[in-house]
Amino acid sequence: MLDRLWSILSHDIGVDLGTANTVVHVKGMGVVIREPSVVARHLKTKEILAIGTEAKKMTGKTPENIEVVRPLRDGVIADFDAAEAMLKYYIKEVQQMMGGLKASLGRPKVVVGIPSGVTEVERRAVHEATVNAGARQAFLIEEPMAAAIGAGLPVMEPTGQMVVDIGGGTSEIGVISLGGLVLNRSLRIAGDELTEAVINFARLKYNLLLGDATAEQVKIAVGSAYPVKSESEGKPLSMVVRGRSLENGLPKSQQINSVELREALASVVRQILNEIALVIEETPPELVSDILERGMILAGGGSLLRGIDKLIAEETGMPVWVTEKPMEAVVRGCGMVLENEKLLRQVRVVRGLD
Ligand code: ADP
Ligand code: MG
Repeated sequence: MLDRLWSILSHDIGVDLGTANTVVHVKGMGVVIREPSVVARHLKTKEILAIGTEAKKMTGKTPENIEVVRPLRDGVIADFDAAEAMLKYYIKEVQQMMGGLKASLGRPKVVVGIPSGVTEVERRAVHEATVNAGARQAFLIEEPMAAAIGAGLPVMEPTGQMVVDIGGGTSEIGVISLGGLVLNRSLRIAGDELTEAVINFARLKYNLLLGDATAEQVKIAVGSAYPVKSESEGKPLSMVVRGRSLENGLPKSQQINSVELREALASVVRQILNEIALVIEETPPELVSDILERGMILAGGGSLLRGIDKLIAEETGMPVWVTEKPMEAVVRGCGMVLENEKLLRQVRVVRGLD
């Protein structure tokens, strides 16, 4: 009881700075914020106008003097100022949620999950931004490690664990043993490219122009990587999408089904599969046999694409599991690290700043 009370009072924070979504976890409370990693600002003055959902709504609808940016593109920090603004905004928001407690109990400890492709300079910058945002101490953890911890894998054991995190901008594939990443590849092909494949498909097959948001909805509603059950009964999934005709510029509706869409997504899915195969090839045989026995874990929003687990299992001959609430695996891992001193000591911290 006292423990729990202290957990709530100390409000240590885990932040997953994802390419598509930023998720914030507060010790003792769970996930409290989940918002798109999007920032809207004034083009000239760089004044921040909106962050998160509100900023995402502006995508494709802004007047000339406003720009909408995704600070983390392709698994690297593409726009540092915007990333810092986002980080600060969410840390402040948690502190506000906690109200007056902050004043009496001091500043939180913060663990930030960052893409494994981030450079040393960027690590320092994220660290500094977190401290500037009000953290007492800031720790950085590589996302594949955080995802593995969040998925409940026993990362400290001397056995091989494999995790594939398919996010918006990157697919991160990691092999973990004894608390460290033995192998790690970051592929800049993931959910965004699947969405782009939907746009290209609609344009080429139906002369239909779709916006990003619509294409993403189509992908989620009828996209798949493996034949859907109802197809064998002659009933593929389908939906009617609205876009603009490229022939006459007028609004146009078109029915799209799961069979044609799977074909459209196949080449992107294939690239992710190839990367997984490469990592398996490079993994030492002892660890491969561990993974064969225990299976590989999928995390990230891309792992929700229908049947992607089945396809990976079939192609690699390994058991494959999608972790519970895959879009929260990284932040859950950050939260678990905050509650476990031993793990926290293992986390790679930027040297010279802490
Ligand atoms: P990141 O860690 O890069 O922020 P996330 O793990 O939050 O990314 O995943 C975001 C990606 O997952 C987006 O490309 C989104 O379209 C995709 N996604 C979310 N839900 C689904 C779903 N049900 N089916 C397919 N893709 C999905
Ligand atoms: Mg992620």
